[in-house]
Amino acid sequence: MIVAEQKPIDEIKEMAAPYRKLLVLGCGTCVQTCFAGGEEEVATLVSTLRLAAKVDGRDIEVEGLTVERQCEDEFIQEAAESIARNEAVLSLACGAGVQAIARRFYHTPILPGVNTTFIGVLEKQGLFTEECLGCGNCELATFNGICPIARCAKKLLNGPCGGSRDGKCEINPETDCAWQLIYDRSKALGKLDNLKAYRPARSWQASSAGGPRRLVREDHII
Ligand code: SF4
Ligand code: SF4
Repeated sequence: MIVAEQKPIDEIKEMAAPYRKLLVLGCGTCVQTCFAGGEEEVATLVSTLRLAAKVDGRDIEVEGLTVERQCEDEFIQEAAESIARNEAVLSLACGAGVQAIARRFYHTPILPGVNTTFIGVLEKQGLFTEECLGCGNCELATFNGICPIARCAKKLLNGPCGGSRDGKCEINPETDCAWQLIYDRSKALGKLDNLKAYRPARSWQASSAGGPRRLVREDHII
């Protein structure tokens, strides 16, 4: 999932300050799962903004709505009426959702209410960890299910650096060394041979280094 966290309330208040009618728009998928921008967060933020405006003596109408996904037209359409009756939208979706709304409602200011952080998993209650950088050429088969591109601080593809200690990364001792994890899992799977071949420099052409990417599915084009 895409992991995000809500921006500090002072930053949100500052962004929202110029507007007297504001829609707080939640997204019911990734950001709901990571407690940043789903139905509950929308309700809390609407109350907080109303209360803050009252305390500051400002006249503001705040409305809340959550759609299933802000990155798809089909669901964006459900918010069209609410967007039309407000001066601005505070979107609690990831950066893709914010831009999808901005593209569709060209003359309405769309403000980002969360900081989009990474593609990750819920490792345990309250802990989300980064697991994928969307490199465009997945090599998890070679690394036996653990990604050194996302999980090794140095993105090393030919084994660990000299700083790995007791299974932890030298950059952050609270983080497991990705190469320790790769080694342990490869051994458990009986696939250590996967790691023996020298890997030449990787082509990053499929990654975001070459600018924004597009994925065309001819079979779905109408
Ligand atoms: S190899 Fe690339 S696509 Fe696969 S998990 Fe790592 S960053 Fe993501
Ligand atoms: S200690 Fe491990 S995870 Fe950290 S940079 Fe070195 S090889 Fe990568």
